[in-house]
Amino acid sequence: MLAGFDIRGQERVSAARVLVVGAGGLGSPVCLYLAAAGVGTLRIADGDSVELTNLQRQILYATADVGASKVSAAAAYLSRLNPDVSVVPIPQRLSGESLIEQVSQVDVVVDATDNFATRFELNAACCAAHVPLVSAAAIRMEAQVAVYSYRGGTGPCYRCLYQDEQEIAESCSETGVLGPLVGIIGAIQALETLKVLTGMESSLDGKLLVLDARRLEWRTVKLRADPKCPICGPK
Ligand SMILES: [Zn+2]
Repeated sequence: MLAGFDIRGQERVSAARVLVVGAGGLGSPVCLYLAAAGVGTLRIADGDSVELTNLQRQILYATADVGASKVSAAAAYLSRLNPDVSVVPIPQRLSGESLIEQVSQVDVVVDATDNFATRFELNAACCAAHVPLVSAAAIRMEAQVAVYSYRGGTGPCYRCLYQDEQEIAESCSETGVLGPLVGIIGAIQALETLKVLTGMESSLDGKLLVLDARRLEWRTVKLRADPKCPICGPK
């Protein structure tokens, strides 16, 4: 029914292959909305098991899942939600060759990780393969979302924004985050993923949307490609 989307958009979604890296607080709403939307193939990578303290924000899981592999529990739930979606659980923290291999098999990658090493690796792999990356992070009462399309292998990219992974090495499990915040941001990631898949222009292409959840204030920052960037800059 939606103008600019209609049957053609739904067909594109049904044929689409998406890789979601991280099945935690952000990955939960991303996977739920993408499965409900009928994404053809949903590949989900995460090496962790469900812990009781995850349940406050990781809404893909129930108390009975504690101790189970996240991607197995996610696949079981998502297959019940929408049996037409092919869910491929990848029970590992992607890195190196396996990360590059997984990126090469999809149309869009969603970065829902909680660590900077994987974020930098995903950015480099997606830039090299020209696969769009829908990236987000949330911590304490702050969050951000960006879409990197890497058209023609150019920036801006995540590496243009963050030079050094040492400067911001914190995670939700160490500093805390309110559950609805990752819900809001994960839903935006799912929305932008559907836009990219259906050829609607992403409102966040080359931009960073920042949310201050304490004040509920949003701002959008236009990203500039760093001409000296080792990932997207001239080789
Ligand atoms: Zn760059």
